[in-house]
Amino acid sequence: MATKRQMRKELAEYIRTRLTNHKFYVFRSVIIDGINCYIILYRKNKLINVESIHTSCTFIKNNKTHYQKYSLYHTNYDTIENAIDKIEFITRTYKLYNGDLMDEKNYNAYKLEEEFIPYKDYQSCCICYKNTIETTLCNHYICFHCREKCLVLRKFDCPLCRKQNILSEYNTDHGLINNEQFSNTLYFIAEEEEEEYADNPVVPPPLTPPTTPPSTPPRLYQNQDQEEEEEEEEDQEPENFSQRCSRAIQQGLTRILNGNNT
Ligand SMILES: [Zn+2]
Ligand SMILES: [Zn+2]
Repeated sequence: MATKRQMRKELAEYIRTRLTNHKFYVFRSVIIDGINCYIILYRKNKLINVESIHTSCTFIKNNKTHYQKYSLYHTNYDTIENAIDKIEFITRTYKLYNGDLMDEKNYNAYKLEEEFIPYKDYQSCCICYKNTIETTLCNHYICFHCREKCLVLRKFDCPLCRKQNILSEYNTDHGLINNEQFSNTLYFIAEEEEEEYADNPVVPPPLTPPTTPPSTPPRLYQNQDQEEEEEEEEDQEPENFSQRCSRAIQQGLTRILNGNNT
């Protein structure tokens, strides 16, 4: 039987061959810390990019607005073999903190920081109440995990103010996304992808969202429209995710009516 090392070599060889004809290689979609992701290897800049399947973002570079899938993490690689090892490690151990995937050590350090530099009271997710700096474009707080759950259920409106079609675009309360290199990274990703499609017009775009396996009973999908109308009346069973969403809406409206719209 082939050893892991031999299999890695074989996979690396396959990816290398693919990269001679294509500018990037997309791995199968994967769930990292509860978030559906695509992991992409870019040839030209030797970059590993982990992007969210459901969440996007916009940024402005050279007076041009770019629209991209939100990048949860990116790093450079030297060899494809090392990239495979890194990717294996990321998918097994990385955790998400305010929109950034990081190793456990970093994650724990951020959690410790909170003891000394606490969040403001209003910086809490409108669904799970955990502290977060992540917001909708209408400036309502929602953590990435709750945003992801909403998007998987195809609920795109703000859970607080009901603004339509707003959840899939990422934002934070300081208006910045990720680190300072982020926009540069996205810029050359955009550049490489544009080139890829120009060179290979028949290649289907690799970024089409797959059908995500339902994380809740399929009934939520089948009766989605009905469910949205009925959900406020359902209170016999233990509170499920969409009920928590409606409760957040109720509470948000109360807060808005009381003039405390934070
Ligand atoms: Zn949350
Ligand atoms: Zn809102």
